[in-house]
Amino acid sequence: MRQNILDLSRDQLSQWCEEKGLKKYISGQVYQWLYSKKAPSFEEMTDLAIPMRALFAEYFEIGRLEVGARHHSAVDRSTKFLYRLHDTNSVEAVLMPQKNRTTLCLSSQVGCAMGCKFCKTAEMKLVRNLTPGEILGQILETQRQLPPEERISNIVLMGMGEPLHNYDSVIQAIRIMTDPKGLGISQRKVTLSTVGLAPEIERFGKDTGVKLALSLNATTEEGRGDLMPVTRKYSLERVLEACKVYTKDQPNRRVTFEYVMLAGINDSLDDAKRLSQIGSHLPCKINLIPYNEYPSSPYKRPTEEKVRAFFTYLADRHFQVNIRYSKGLDVNGACGQLCVSTSSPH
Ligand code: SAH
Repeated sequence: MRQNILDLSRDQLSQWCEEKGLKKYISGQVYQWLYSKKAPSFEEMTDLAIPMRALFAEYFEIGRLEVGARHHSAVDRSTKFLYRLHDTNSVEAVLMPQKNRTTLCLSSQVGCAMGCKFCKTAEMKLVRNLTPGEILGQILETQRQLPPEERISNIVLMGMGEPLHNYDSVIQAIRIMTDPKGLGISQRKVTLSTVGLAPEIERFGKDTGVKLALSLNATTEEGRGDLMPVTRKYSLERVLEACKVYTKDQPNRRVTFEYVMLAGINDSLDDAKRLSQIGSHLPCKINLIPYNEYPSSPYKRPTEEKVRAFFTYLADRHFQVNIRYSKGLDVNGACGQLCVSTSSPH
């Protein structure tokens, strides 16, 4: 099988060109066709000599993701895309047009191994990692379906999967998306969200300049352990230490704490108080996400009043805090609702 050229880093592409004895500028030209111009095939690379295009096509394909389905939310204008991969597995990506930006939420794995009790993707278990080209492919395919004036400006790695559990592929994809000669998305407009793999958080802070969000979701070791099995591997204290290291690596860095609010589990004012103590130790902002229910889940969304009171407690203590009502709730495209049936063995 020909290799997906989108799986190559910029250096790997130029190395391949060198090995084939091609002129230096060729690799830059191809890279630009792939990412700046988002060419779907080598034939479109019209400033490349025809035999050159044929040479690339002999060794590589430009991996495409097939649009399996598209669900448009009537409520908030978000769109959930189901993308079919070459092996019949699928992943979901969610497009969220906002006032002055257009954000795409990407998946990093088919399924997820982290087993968070409140998340629908966890039910799939981990099927496989996505390759860098499949991660970038979600951006390329989505952009191709949009009118040119609607440019994807922001990326969140918050879809299916644990991005730091697929570290190398995710970092390679981030490099290409934030490369001015690649997709050219500013580092400040890319956010990766993690359950809290502590060593990878520290590596990530050194390897990239993009933003970090930690899915905190609870304020005690025991409470977090009940919801998120990963806590048994990396304690709450260890993860917060890693976040602190991340914030210190570059000036003005801060972490976003995501906090899914579950009725009767983590929505009391005692929780808010503990959260404010956690937040006082490092530069951070806090996103409260009222829980999105789904049929097989045992958890419920807290009442509006509960969410407000929690919010107010933190806002009064001068935290930058937001209530994030998820987009795409009516199309099952909201946080923690992404799940696809798969034909591959687990
Ligand atoms: N594995 C990464 C990336 C997924 S992000 C991570 O955990 O951060 C998904 C975000 O949605 C996480 O913050 C998670 O805590 C939250 N989430 C999961 N299930 C949810 C649900 N049913 N309702 C609201 N938020 C949910």
